[in-house]
Amino acid sequence: MSVDQYVTTNINPFLVVCTVLALFIIKRPTAAIIQYSIALVAFFVLMAIFQIEPAILATNQLNGLTFVAIGLCIALLYWHSERSAILQQRKITEQQHKLEEIAYYDNLTGLINRWKWLQYVDIELEKNQLPGKESCILLLDIDFFKRVNDQYGHLVGDQILKQLAQILKNEVGSQGDAARWGGEEFIILLPGMSLSKSIEIGEQIRQCIAKTPFYIKNYQIHITVSLGATLLENHGDFMYAYKHADQALYMAKDNGRNRLEYVVDLA
Ligand code: GH3
Ligand code: MG
Ligand code: MG
Repeated sequence: MSVDQYVTTNINPFLVVCTVLALFIIKRPTAAIIQYSIALVAFFVLMAIFQIEPAILATNQLNGLTFVAIGLCIALLYWHSERSAILQQRKITEQQHKLEEIAYYDNLTGLINRWKWLQYVDIELEKNQLPGKESCILLLDIDFFKRVNDQYGHLVGDQILKQLAQILKNEVGSQGDAARWGGEEFIILLPGMSLSKSIEIGEQIRQCIAKTPFYIKNYQIHITVSLGATLLENHGDFMYAYKHADQALYMAKDNGRNRLEYVVDLA
C-alpha cells in the first residue's frame, strides 16, 4: 500500500485492516499494544519513504494514527468483554461441579451416594437385557457399630467409616462401584460379574476388613462386616434384587456376623 502511494494517496486498506483485525482476533492488551505500535511505526516509516507530498503525508499519517488508536480501543474493549464472559463461564462450570459433588457424593466417605449409584444400576439393568449377561450386588453392614460409637465416640466412628470406604475403593477397584447406602451400610455393584466371582470378591473384602486394624487417635480398633450378595436379575427391577441382598444380609447377621450369605430367588 505504501508503494501504492506512487499511484494513489488512498490509505483505506490500512484503516480497514486496523479495525477489522481488532474485531476478529482477540488479543491480550500487551500483545495488542505491541502489534498496533509496530503497525503504526511501520506505517509512518514507509509513508515517509513513499509519499513525497508533505501535505498528503501529514494527512495520511494523521488518519493512520487515528485508526490505529480506534483499532487498539476496539481490541482492548473486545478483549475485556470476552474475558468477562470467559471468567463468568468458568465460575458457572465450577459451581456446577460443586453442586454435582453435593448431589452425588457422600461428604464423609467420598464415595458416591445411593442416588448416583442407582443411576449405574439403571445402566446395568439395561445392559443385562443382553443374553448371557449378569451382574451382582453386595450389601455390606458393619457389625455392632453402635458399640464402637458407644465405646470410642461418634467422631472415631466417623473415621472408621472413612477408612472403611477407602478399603472398599481399593478392593473393588475398577471391577465395580461402591456407594454409601446410608448409615454404616454400603452397597457394591459388580457389573458383568457372575455370582460365584462376586461372592469371591465379597469374601476378600470381608477378610481384609477383619484383619485390618483401624488406627484412630491412640486406639487400635478391629471391626468386622457382614455381607449379603445377590444377582441383579435381568428380568427384574432393582428393588427385586435389593430384597434378596437384604435378606442375605439378615441371614449373615443371624448366622453369627462377620460372614457373607447370598440369596438368588425368594420363590
Ligand atoms: P448390627 O451388627 O446388627 O448391624 O449392629 P449395629 O450396632 O451395627 O446396628 P445398629 O443398627 O443397632 O446401629 C447402627 C449404628 O450405626 C448406630 C448409628 O449410631 C451408627 N451410625 C450410623 N451412621 C453413622 C455415622 O455417619 N457416623 C457414626 N459415627 N455412626 C453412625
Ligand atoms: Mg451394623
Ligand atoms: Mg445397619
